[in-house]
Amino acid sequence: MTAGPVVIIGAGHAGFQLATSLRQHGFSERIALVNDEGHLPYQRPPLSKAYLKGTGGPDSLMFRPEKFYHDQKVDLISDRAVSIDRAARKVMLASGAWLDYGHLVLATGARNRLLDIPNANLDGVRYLRTLDESQSLRDHIAPGQRVVVVGAGFIGLEFAATARAKGLEVDVIELATRVMARAVTAEISEHFQARHTAAGIRIHLGVQVTSIESDGRKVTGVSLSDGRHINADLIVVGVGVLPNVELAAEAGLPVAAGIIVDEHLLTADPNISAVGDCALYASPRFGGSLRLESVQNATDHARCVAARLTGDPKPYDGLPWFWSDQGPDKLQMVGLTTGYDRVVVRGDRAAGAFSAFCYKAGQLVGIESVNRAGDHMFGRRLLAAHGSITPEQAGDTGFDLKSALT
Ligand SMILES: Cc1cc2nc3c(=O)[nH]c(=O)nc-3n(C[C@H](O)[C@H](O)[C@H](O)COP(=O)(O)OP(=O)(O)OC[C@H]3O[C@@H](n4cnc5c(N)ncnc54)[C@H](O)[C@@H]3O)c2cc1C
Repeated sequence: MTAGPVVIIGAGHAGFQLATSLRQHGFSERIALVNDEGHLPYQRPPLSKAYLKGTGGPDSLMFRPEKFYHDQKVDLISDRAVSIDRAARKVMLASGAWLDYGHLVLATGARNRLLDIPNANLDGVRYLRTLDESQSLRDHIAPGQRVVVVGAGFIGLEFAATARAKGLEVDVIELATRVMARAVTAEISEHFQARHTAAGIRIHLGVQVTSIESDGRKVTGVSLSDGRHINADLIVVGVGVLPNVELAAEAGLPVAAGIIVDEHLLTADPNISAVGDCALYASPRFGGSLRLESVQNATDHARCVAARLTGDPKPYDGLPWFWSDQGPDKLQMVGLTTGYDRVVVRGDRAAGAFSAFCYKAGQLVGIESVNRAGDHMFGRRLLAAHGSITPEQAGDTGFDLKSALT
């Protein structure tokens, strides 16, 4: 049980969930939630999906209305944390104010990795992580415009699908030889590449953008590493993110590809935890260190820390899962599919409803599903219980998955 106020830096999925869970667990001391975004805490996934398409206003993204923070006695502080005094247990804010903490939680998330090529700072070069960035794209994209999307990861492809549906001319540039190569199996990549191509999106693989051209004022196109040129009015960059570790590093906490935390999500300082996209955590489940970028990871981290701070410490054992909506297709993933040595397809690839069951040394390690929510939910239950089914059972649609859960 922690004594004294809890200060949470960052009011994204992790920070918001932590404040909420602390109160749900009966934590009665002060909670300060430091939010540097100028909006009430909001959900990010719709920014490249429904919101970008034009569904709902900013209020539809908010986790809770302002009254919730007041009712729950969560001090939502609109400011930016600029330094941590660990000896005095204080956080300094950009406004010059100081916050005392009994426990500090870093939920600082991640920021866009920026393109580092000529003309990348022109106004027509956009990113997609914040509500303001999504709003600006939503307001500006219009039928007939030509957009080049740099990066065929989840966000690049979600944006590309929405832009195409809105009547834009879309070219996607990807250095790898297949789409979403770092995250999904070749089976899933092939499906989405075919679907996006059929929708009229031109996908260029194995090339990179080497420079952005302009008429001196606005973007006119891009040059590629193979010598080609593509005309464009707009460039949307989705080349990954960098975890926000600087605050921790400047306070002398160990950081690497994230803020280093143990299996309890504690940093080297027993009064400071880190959660969500910024945290590089020791995973007993997978053996090794992981930094994941997903809503599940952020919210389950937050629940784990809230339980510890209210007297119920347990190592973090969350099962990773994720989703991505691209055009009419829903991709759902569960487990960690890195390092698999065998993939078994269940369902009908031609009909666009199938799952890739991934095996490592005969053990099921993850399932990637396209339009097969039942397989995904099965995987969440089975893998949470450290269960498996044989590759033969996975490939046999006559095999009743539910029977493996009993
Ligand atoms: C467009 C988009 C679509 C996505 N779609 C999906 C999806 O479909 N499924 C899924 O599972 N995940 C998705 N994600 C990923 C998911 O949104 C992130 O993993 C999640 O937001 C991480 O939450 P977080 O709280 O750790 O970090 P963040 O959401 O990044 O929040 C961190 C907050 O901390 C603030 N902050 C940082 N430093 C300071 C400071 N010094 N002082 C004060 N505040 C600070 C930041 O401004 C930010 O508001 C998507 C992400 C994006 C951008």
